[in-house]
Amino acid sequence: MLVINGAMGEGGGQILRSALALSLCLGRPFRISNIRATRRRPGLMPQHLVAVKAAAIIGEADVQGAAKGCSDLEFIPHTIKPDEYHFDIGTAGSTTLVLQTILPALLTASGPSQIYLQGGTHNPLAPPFDFFERAFLPLLNRMGPRIQAHLQRPGFYPVGGGIVEVSITPTPALKPLTLLERGEIVSQRAWAMLSRLPEHIAQRELNVIGNQLGLHNSNLEVRHVEAKGAGNAVTVLIESEHVTEVFGGIGERGVTAETVAAGVVTAVRRYLTAAVPVGEYLADQLLLPLALTGSGSFITLKPSRHTTTNIAVIEQFTAHRISCKELAADRWRISF
Ligand code: ATP
Repeated sequence: MLVINGAMGEGGGQILRSALALSLCLGRPFRISNIRATRRRPGLMPQHLVAVKAAAIIGEADVQGAAKGCSDLEFIPHTIKPDEYHFDIGTAGSTTLVLQTILPALLTASGPSQIYLQGGTHNPLAPPFDFFERAFLPLLNRMGPRIQAHLQRPGFYPVGGGIVEVSITPTPALKPLTLLERGEIVSQRAWAMLSRLPEHIAQRELNVIGNQLGLHNSNLEVRHVEAKGAGNAVTVLIESEHVTEVFGGIGERGVTAETVAAGVVTAVRRYLTAAVPVGEYLADQLLLPLALTGSGSFITLKPSRHTTTNIAVIEQFTAHRISCKELAADRWRISF
C-alpha cells in the first residue's frame, strides 16, 4: 500500500486532502502518518475529519483512524457514488477545503451530484467562497464538467453556520488545461462583505483598495449579509481576457480594516507586476485536476511551499513528473 508522510514539505492539511482526492480518483488505497505534524495542534481537526468522512462516503471506502486528533489513517476506496450529499463541519472549519477533497472524484463520476456543506465559507488560510466560485470553478468547467456553486449563507469564524450548495454534472473524461497568458485586463472590482459589524469597516477596506489599486468608486461595493455570527471579508476580482483571479482577505478581531485590505493589495500588486495568469493559491489547487488529465501547463508566480508539497504528493500517487521552470523573476512554468 502507498505510504504518505504527512510531515513532508509544508506538513499541513493539504497533504491529507490531496491524498484522499487522488486515492478516490485513481482507486488507490493509501496510508498516511504524521498528519499535520508541523501544525500547533497536529492530527485531524473537525474540518479534516469531515473531509475524511465525506471522502469515505462518496468512495464507499474502508477507513481506519478517522477520529479527532489522530495522526495516522488508512483509506481504501471502492466505487465512486454520485448522489445528493449533506456534510456539516459542526464548527467554522472551511467548507471549500472539504470540497477540495471530494470534488475531483465527482467530476468524472457516473452521474450528477448535489452537495450541501455547512461550516465556514470565508476563513483565513483557506479558499474564500468567492475565490472558489469565481477563480477556481470556471477553470474546472473549462476541463469539461459543469459545476455551479451557490452561497446560501456566509459562515465566519468562530460561529460558522455558512451554507454552500454545489451541483456537478460530470464529464466522461477531463480535458487538459493550458494557461500561459493572462491577456489584457478586462475589469477590476472589489467588494467588502459585512455581517453584524459596523459599515465603516467595509468603507475603510474599500478606501485602501480604491486608493492603492486605483479603482473607481463605481467598482467598489459594500455588501451586507446575514451570517449566524459577525464577520467581514474583502475581495478583489481581476478579470483578464483568459482568466479571472480573486484575492481575499478576512477581517479578524484585533487586526485593523486597513491591515486586512493592505494584505490583499500586496497580493494583487504582486500578481499584476508578474503578469502571470495564475496566482499563488490557484497554482497549488490546479495541480490536482491537471494531474488527472496527465497533461497541461500554466504560468504562475514562484511556487509556494503548498505547491511544491502538492507536487510531491501527486508524484507519489501517479507516474507523472511535474516540471517547475523559472522563466524570469516571479514567473514560472509548471508543466505535466
Ligand atoms: P492546516 O495546515 O492547519 O491543516 P489547512 O487544513 O487549512 O490547515 P493547508 O495545508 O494550509 O490546510 O492548505 C490551505 C489551502 O487553502 C491551500 O490549498 C491554499 O491554496 C488555500 N488557500 C489559502 N489561502 C487562500 C486564499 N487567500 N485564497 C485562495 N486559496 C487559499
